[in-house]
Amino acid sequence: MSLSPSRASDFMQCPLLYRFRVIDRLPEKPSEAATRGTLVHAVLERLFDAPAAERTPPRAKSLVPGQWERLLESRPELGELFAQDEGGERLARWMSEAEALVERWFSLEDPTRLEPAERELFVETELESGLRLRGVIDRVDVAPTGEVRIVDYKTGKAPRPEYSEGALFQMKFYALVIWRLKGVVPRRLQLVYLGSGEVLTYDPVAADLERVERRLLALWDAIMRATESGDWRPRPTKLCGWCDHQAVCPEFGGTPPVYPLPVVPAG
Ligand code: SF4
Repeated sequence: MSLSPSRASDFMQCPLLYRFRVIDRLPEKPSEAATRGTLVHAVLERLFDAPAAERTPPRAKSLVPGQWERLLESRPELGELFAQDEGGERLARWMSEAEALVERWFSLEDPTRLEPAERELFVETELESGLRLRGVIDRVDVAPTGEVRIVDYKTGKAPRPEYSEGALFQMKFYALVIWRLKGVVPRRLQLVYLGSGEVLTYDPVAADLERVERRLLALWDAIMRATESGDWRPRPTKLCGWCDHQAVCPEFGGTPPVYPLPVVPAG
């Protein structure tokens, strides 16, 4: 009975993808892009350990190798990414791309003037329906006046304006959780796109978050119906190109594994 923004997005993108990830728990190969994102997030989080005046681009870049080592210690399977890279060239290029993303952040925000209230904050709340919402917020800033800003870093490029609603969904999800937990509607939602050097902001009002809540309840209802019936429809889009499960997807000639849950007959 719990939903995170990523899993909600999975179901909206493709119900069968949600099933493969949440119910079958099929393994997925680590990707260079996603791992670089994790590394950059770790560096930006750790940089705030330093006194404000020392939060400089050289300091941030110097954190990259050490954070990569820590990541490898906690998730040794990531070593597979560069197992075939004998000369170390791919790894060196990948590290310098991570450094460039970290450096670009300084053109978008000034960490010497920020004192986050929270970093990598795990949040969880239960709605009246019993549905639990959870997630991890990259950064929460609280102004002296008490106004809350939720910040998320993205290592990709900002979406075109017509797709910004999808990008803001995750932020409104977090805003709803904060509102339910603290009784305060966050003043600002801020997406920092390190890939293209852009910042997308949105100032929500309570009605926005109520809409998101209704949407999540409807989504959860659809997930429950699929869970009981075992009817998880594939929804092919161009995002299938990034899906690890084409081999077991009927859209690509595959057969899904046997459904592991009991099926409740309709009616
Ligand atoms: S390949 Fe496409 S349609 Fe099939 S499960 Fe993955 S996302 Fe869904």
